[in-house]
Amino acid sequence: MKRKTILVTGGAGFLGSHLCERLVEEGHDVLCLDNFFTGSKDNIAHLLGHPRFELIRHDLVQPIFVEVDQIYNFACPASPVHYQYNPVKTVKTNVMGTIHMLGLAKRVRARILQASTSEVYGDPEEHPQRETYWGRVNPIGPRSCYDEGKRVAETLVMDYHRQNGVDVRIVRIFNTYGPRMAIHDGRVVSNFIVQALRGEPLTVYGDGSQTRSFCYVSDLIDGCIRMMNAEGLTGPVNLGNPNEFTIRRLAEKIIDMTGSSSEIVERPLPKDDPVQRQPDITLAREKLGWEPVVPLEEGLAKTIGYFRQRLAESGSA
Ligand code: NAD
Ligand code: UDP
Repeated sequence: MKRKTILVTGGAGFLGSHLCERLVEEGHDVLCLDNFFTGSKDNIAHLLGHPRFELIRHDLVQPIFVEVDQIYNFACPASPVHYQYNPVKTVKTNVMGTIHMLGLAKRVRARILQASTSEVYGDPEEHPQRETYWGRVNPIGPRSCYDEGKRVAETLVMDYHRQNGVDVRIVRIFNTYGPRMAIHDGRVVSNFIVQALRGEPLTVYGDGSQTRSFCYVSDLIDGCIRMMNAEGLTGPVNLGNPNEFTIRRLAEKIIDMTGSSSEIVERPLPKDDPVQRQPDITLAREKLGWEPVVPLEEGLAKTIGYFRQRLAESGSA
């Protein structure tokens, strides 16, 4: 592969840091941009000082000019707890941040890949979800800043493509987990693992019958890189693991795998929490030759190992 200069926004976050690492390993020059809202220097500490890695502290709500060949636009808090903390800022990051990155892509003729989400399907009536499904999203609810923010980001990407000929890619990412999720991230996999390791009750929201399909981070990053480098395909393309099961089963599995004595407790179901979610990945299989290869047990074991170490280091196991 030809050596490229690649900008990763949100590069100090969970997915962004894995992406930066892979791109550096592949021999590219990587600019990691982050405002450290949910990201952390710890995630990229091992890359600092690498001759092909550069860190830029910057908030994407402000424009920035850098010469790059590719842009992965990943900046945006992804956990409901964090994206609802300052919802107006979440919208700004998705709208102004994406406009700034599309403007940059247009100016320097870079290819841009937008990290979109399964949340654009909302609480779906079509199951599993295909890219052709338009979704069922509440425009005025507590999740809207993220769901609608990501939907308008997709609109902007396609409008810059049609209007200005920008070379664009959209991936719709389904629930992904793995090492480097923050201890206080608030999403379900990290919550359950941290609770199980601390011997605290696992908080299942609602009765736990809602479903999700969990993809391990290395599979997801592989799919994103394939999509960025695929020719003649703008997307959107779903990336996720079709292995769907209930949140209660996930809690039971994590208790089992950690050997924890924790109990399961029920907490109120957040408003507009989608009932079921599973990606149809036919398009990714056909166009990218991609499908997830890491089984849940293997991915969970690695993630549990990561959190065990983190908690031991912080003395809060
Ligand atoms: P994360 O919260 O760990 O990472 C987001 C990163 O963006 C953080 O480092 C944060 O500090 C940074 N950021 C936020 N606002 C910013 C701003 N205004 N300027 C600069 N940096 C900013 O979340 P993640 O799971 O790594 O998600 C990364 C991207 O992937 C997000 O766009 C998210 O919507 C998308 N996504 C993730 C998942 C998933 O399951 N992990 C699913 C669907 C979509
Ligand atoms: N969830 C839960 N307990 C938690 C955190 C989340 O039961 O401690 C549930 C949540 O209500 C949702 C599912 O797990 O049904 C996935 O939640 P997450 O926040 O990880 O992602 P999203 O809802 O955005 O898919």
